[in-house]
Amino acid sequence: MNESERPLNFLEHLVEEDLKNGFPKEDLRFRFPPEPNGYLHIGHASSICLNFGLGLRYNAPVNLRFDDTNPAKEEQRFVDAIKRDVEWLGYEWNTERYASDYFQQLYDWAVSLIKEGKAYIDSQTSEEMATQKGNPTEPGIESPFRNRPVEENLQLFEDMKAGKFEEGKHVLRAKIDMTSSNMLMRDPIMYRVLHKSHHRTNTDWCIYPMYDWTHGESDYIEQVSHSLCTLEFAMHRELYDWFLNQVVDENRVRPKQREFARRNLSHTVVSKRKLARLVEDGVVDSWDDPRMPTISGLRRRGYSPESIRNFADTIGIAKRDNLIDVSLLEFQVRDHLNKVAPRVMGVLNPLKVVITNYPEGEEEWLDAENNPGDESAGSRKVPLSREIYIEKEDFREEANKKFFRMKLGKEVRLKNGYILMAESCTKDSDGNVIEVQCTYDPKSKSGSGSEESLRKVKGTLHWVSIKHAVAAEVRLYDRLFTDESPDTHKDKDFMEFVNPDSLEVITGYVEPSLKDSKSGDQMQFQRIGYFCVDPDTTSDKLVFNRTVGLRDSWAKIQEKS
Ligand code: ATP
Ligand code: MG
Repeated sequence: MNESERPLNFLEHLVEEDLKNGFPKEDLRFRFPPEPNGYLHIGHASSICLNFGLGLRYNAPVNLRFDDTNPAKEEQRFVDAIKRDVEWLGYEWNTERYASDYFQQLYDWAVSLIKEGKAYIDSQTSEEMATQKGNPTEPGIESPFRNRPVEENLQLFEDMKAGKFEEGKHVLRAKIDMTSSNMLMRDPIMYRVLHKSHHRTNTDWCIYPMYDWTHGESDYIEQVSHSLCTLEFAMHRELYDWFLNQVVDENRVRPKQREFARRNLSHTVVSKRKLARLVEDGVVDSWDDPRMPTISGLRRRGYSPESIRNFADTIGIAKRDNLIDVSLLEFQVRDHLNKVAPRVMGVLNPLKVVITNYPEGEEEWLDAENNPGDESAGSRKVPLSREIYIEKEDFREEANKKFFRMKLGKEVRLKNGYILMAESCTKDSDGNVIEVQCTYDPKSKSGSGSEESLRKVKGTLHWVSIKHAVAAEVRLYDRLFTDESPDTHKDKDFMEFVNPDSLEVITGYVEPSLKDSKSGDQMQFQRIGYFCVDPDTTSDKLVFNRTVGLRDSWAKIQEKS
């Protein structure tokens, strides 16, 4: 979709409105704020496209900010992967920022809050604090430490920072309102002791700010004008506002938080925590396993950045959570690859066909178009010889007249080649067909004249010459979960719905033009689907991933026969 033709989503309308009301365009600033505790997934793509899309629309800076406040879960390798993925999606950030860059500022602000009597050190256990929290209809109970003298709070906070306490001994809490109907306002924790090394600040700190204390303040430090996040943060807005009120300078931009719906994709899970479990439990090989809904998994699977961006654009930005069918994503990748992927021939489930009137030892190289929809893609040569493979399911001894593939006594065309007549077949002791004998019509070569008008042959098959074919490992992927929405069942863990057949590895035979394929190359195996070359490929082993099947093939095949 052309960016300028797309209707504005509700957040873009909001920005338009702010501009109309006098907000200076040059003050617009956005950010994409991932926590580096896992790889980005397809849900994040919506947020990335939204924030970077706004940046492009208004020519405004967009920061990539890592919300790295939890050293127990965060790692440098996740930072690296996130940067790689955002870049691959085609976006350029203004600056790379880290919440950890603001640890000192946040600490200083916390000290000010203590001095103003707006924060205190609580020395109860987390269980004790939990019992005092109350519930949405019952107010909470104030901590016995709530009215600790400022001096004592300051000293304890300093001692916390100096590493004098073990984890859990003390926390810093904001002194807000234990009776608020918003539970998040009931004296939320701002700091806890964590004797853990941080991937950027190492052991400089042993107290870490909570996400809620950090996030809004970081937006303010960066002068983000529109702080866009997902709906689960709607209830947090009041708290972020309270925190901002403590520090904001009226002459500077105050971030405006607005929420949009998380995107959920059918037959998968989009939560880093759940995806991490799939990796840790060995359900998939890695974060970039092509079955994963991660950006890196989709890339390895053969998805293009364009198709993911188009997907995000098509589903748009919503106000309510909903489930997007994975077929919409598949449609986008098919649509994109249809335009750009060269066509090749590969047989995945081979059946030997002998062309009995084709001279033994001979071969010829036939012209094959690389992309019928794009002349500039050029052509290549594919070899034909007396023995070829076709797909097993493309042959039947007998079939009704809707079966336009190979059947005894009927003609069928070889793609880029000749018309064959199936004469007889050979079976093994179990009755399975193991070879078909055909004759060919030497005058029926594709592209050699008007022979097609002479004899109507409805079916066209893909094939490979056995002598020239290259054996390859082909990985066929299916949905990772059998259930449409595996993580929404109250009494069942999402892991119970893992599809045991999400990966099938077979040996296929491909035309020799693919012999030197490189990792990442994409192609359409005609009549089968879109494939790409996996990074596991070596000089003596080709590995293909099936990106997505073909819905419409060029052969007029009616499956119901
Ligand atoms: P996860 O549960 O997968 O860890 P998260 O929200 O904790 O997700 P963050 O790293 O905090 O992950 O996300 C960065 C940004 O991406 C946030 O602004 C978040 O709101 C947004 N985001 C995360 N998941 C989705 C999703 N499924 N759809 C749309 N936006 C999302
Ligand atoms: Mg998170």
